[in-house]
Amino acid sequence: MAISKTRAGPVANPLDAAIAQFGAAADRLNLDPGLRQVLATCKRELATNFPVQMDGGSTKVFTGYRVHHNLARGPAKGGIRYHPAVSLDEVRALAMWMTWKSAVVNLPYGGAKGGVIVDPKALSQTELENLTRRYTTEISILLGPSQDIPAPDMGTDERIMAWIMDTVSMHRGYTEAGVVTGKPVSVGGTLGRKEATGRGILYVIQELARDRSIPLDGATIAVQGFGNVGGAAAALLAGEGARVIAVSDSSGCLYNGRGLDVQALREQKNAGGSLSDMGGGDCLLGEELFSLPVDFLVPAALEGQITAQTARHVQAKIIVEGANGPTTPDGDAVLAEKRVLVVPDILANTGGVIVSYFEWVQDLQFFFWEEEEVRERLQRVITRAYREVCALAQSQNLSLREAAMLLAVSRVEEATRLRGIYP
Ligand code: GLU
Repeated sequence: MAISKTRAGPVANPLDAAIAQFGAAADRLNLDPGLRQVLATCKRELATNFPVQMDGGSTKVFTGYRVHHNLARGPAKGGIRYHPAVSLDEVRALAMWMTWKSAVVNLPYGGAKGGVIVDPKALSQTELENLTRRYTTEISILLGPSQDIPAPDMGTDERIMAWIMDTVSMHRGYTEAGVVTGKPVSVGGTLGRKEATGRGILYVIQELARDRSIPLDGATIAVQGFGNVGGAAAALLAGEGARVIAVSDSSGCLYNGRGLDVQALREQKNAGGSLSDMGGGDCLLGEELFSLPVDFLVPAALEGQITAQTARHVQAKIIVEGANGPTTPDGDAVLAEKRVLVVPDILANTGGVIVSYFEWVQDLQFFFWEEEEVRERLQRVITRAYREVCALAQSQNLSLREAAMLLAVSRVEEATRLRGIYP
């Protein structure tokens, strides 16, 4: 497996993992070689080096990308990541995973992703706004409610989505709320979007717990990542009586066998704190989180975290992937040998894009829903997809990842084939 050069440390290239997962599904479907080539590559890639005015008057050049993988099922959909380790291959992999994700839960979208190589925490508010507005301008030839609809991802939030919406709207001369999702509610966002990925994880775990007769009340959970996905999932699970015994962020890992006070930790995190400075538990090394004997392990940080080496130490019964691509293909193989059940990212973390879809629909209709309706519909969509994937896995003796990929690739293949090649 190739090593990505833009990253600090030897992290496997996520595009290799994404292509390997696709290849396995393509083999199973006996895909036509031409279509196979189409689906294994990204349709469109925009790379931009753009200047940003920094505080104090200096100019700095940043690099960003926006990639469309496949648009056969609808407009391009996917988040924008601000992170120092962003690379074109990472954005390609994330765009490909977005295509499969939307297809698994049957949303009318193609897959896209964007990224800027930057540490957003190192910028002032003004610099972050300047960077966002200029990056949006650079990629604006792609954007539009029926063309390409970005959303938050790692390092971006609802305030950044408001700047994206405003920048596109200023160019067009009218408010274009449906051009981006994950916006603040006051500018066309939907209720329930912020916690949606975490809530989707909760609904999947509730189904699993029922299927496997594991009472959620008292079930033990470890969560890697304490941001928008991991933090929300941990809080919602704790709210259902689960015992969240370990959480980690980039600063470290906090452990308490009796259960952490997740709500208090979230409040401190929101106030700018790091887990390594918080009380209420013992500090563990970050990787120790993966070897805890929990009922559910939720990796909700970066890709490539559960490699073959990490997988050997996993003692969790079930892994629910909150992050995109947290398990490498060789990690997956070790987990399969150990009979650890893995609910794949393209199913488990779809809560975010599902509620993004609801936001987009509301923006297009200028008609907004109550939060209860958002939650009910989210639960219906993700539970149906979970059931479909489980049924396919059972009938064809596949892992949940293999079944989810089979379902997704067959849907995208069908749309691509039916639309044909123009001209
Ligand atoms: N960035 C999120 C994801 O990876 C959300 C994408 C969206 O809502 O478009 O699923």
